Amino acid sequence: MHDLIVVGGGPAGSMCAREAALKGLDVVLIEKSSLPRDKLCGGALSPRISKILDFDISPVIERDMHCAIVYAPSGRKIDIVREDARGYLVKRRDFDYFLVQKAREAGVRIVDDTKVLTVEQLRTSIRVLSPGDSFKGHLLVGADGVNSTVARQVGIRKGWPPERVALCIAADIPLSPDEIDRILTIEGQQGRAAIEMYPWVIEHGYGWCFPKSDEISLGVGYKMKNQVLDIRTAWTEFVDRFEREKEVKLEITNKRAYRVPLGKLDNRITTRRTMLVGDAAGLVSPITGEGLYYAIRSGMLAGQVAYETVKDKNPLHVRTYEQRLKREMKTEFSAANFVSGIAYKSEKKINIVCELAEKDPRMQDLMIDLALGARSISKIRMDLTKRMIRHYPLKALRLLF
Ligand SMILES: Cc1cc2nc3c(=O)[nH]c(=O)nc-3n(C[C@H](O)[C@H](O)[C@H](O)COP(=O)(O)OP(=O)(O)OC[C@H]3O[C@@H](n4cnc5c(N)ncnc54)[C@H](O)[C@@H]3O)c2cc1C
Repeated sequence: MHDLIVVGGGPAGSMCAREAALKGLDVVLIEKSSLPRDKLCGGALSPRISKILDFDISPVIERDMHCAIVYAPSGRKIDIVREDARGYLVKRRDFDYFLVQKAREAGVRIVDDTKVLTVEQLRTSIRVLSPGDSFKGHLLVGADGVNSTVARQVGIRKGWPPERVALCIAADIPLSPDEIDRILTIEGQQGRAAIEMYPWVIEHGYGWCFPKSDEISLGVGYKMKNQVLDIRTAWTEFVDRFEREKEVKLEITNKRAYRVPLGKLDNRITTRRTMLVGDAAGLVSPITGEGLYYAIRSGMLAGQVAYETVKDKNPLHVRTYEQRLKREMKTEFSAANFVSGIAYKSEKKINIVCELAEKDPRMQDLMIDLALGARSISKIRMDLTKRMIRHYPLKALRLLF
């Protein structure tokens, strides 16, 4: 019998398992794919990541992230350079496997190639079943991503309502480092290829290009809400435009579609002996699609609560995970939903936001803080609101109504 069973070997699962194992728990982590596995993702890590990790991730950093270019729907191009808030770009296959190895080093038993199909809640324990195997434990963590089997099996959720999901198409596309520098460098910033954002290349969403050392992640995504858009056509048009404007020919072989659960933290994420973390708990920013910080942070918190629960021999203690996570992140997700509800409402509103970013360096700083997750989103929202009311009251009204 294990103290803790973690289902899913992404960042949330690895960091949860590692935290619990470092504190002395007997932990098994079960992953359906064979490791290392890849994951469709832009691979942008916000500056906050380095504040919560207690180890060096430089072996898997592909590029530092200092510069960004935003292409407004109006045709404006906004160059942004930030020296103080440094994020990172990673390849998910390498980054995630690095975190799995950190969990293994802490004593976690890693079982890959094993898909969990069923969860049984027993009187004094919990059992998960995969084809040909079963694992019994005191506690269970569902770190199994957007389509979480654990969430369904323990009755927390059957699926996501459409308004809580963004749909994306993206691909990792090989390109030489010289070519990446040529097409993505802001003048005067040689050797520091920028990330690029294309708000409204699809309605209620955006396109992106995030550079790694020898490939780019190119993608489009939109908030599904009540409408279903033709995302395939949006993707094709975006790639055509990118190739035309950058004068580059892309070899796209691994285009995939994926869903992202947009965070609100208004639902249950625990039940008896079970906690959900990362995408399984729906922890992705509705502004930027950032999920890695929240996955890692929620995983670490669940690992800590698992330790306390086993130590106290009180399974009801897992509820404190939900309370603590909501205390830490709920205001932030409410603020993010408020901002994204305004900005992604129409092309006109996105253009107002871009115009403000271009004209006012302070507004630009605040917006980039938002995009990079450099500080708490709720604090940035307050600063943005104050500045809008003081300097741009008419634009504030046009944004709100
Ligand atoms: C196109 C796209 C771009 C993105 N770009 C960014 C970005 O640039 N920056 C950022 O911060 N976030 C980004 N995100 C979000 C980010 O990828 C997720 O928030 C993050 O991966 C969540 O980590 P996780 O560990 O919760 O889940 P995942 O990384 O999805 O890991 C879940 C794991 O569980 C395993 N699993 C699933 N079911 C089972 C089962 N039944 N049994 C066993 N194992 C199972 C899966 O194989 C997987 O390894 C992006 C997402 C998408 C789709």
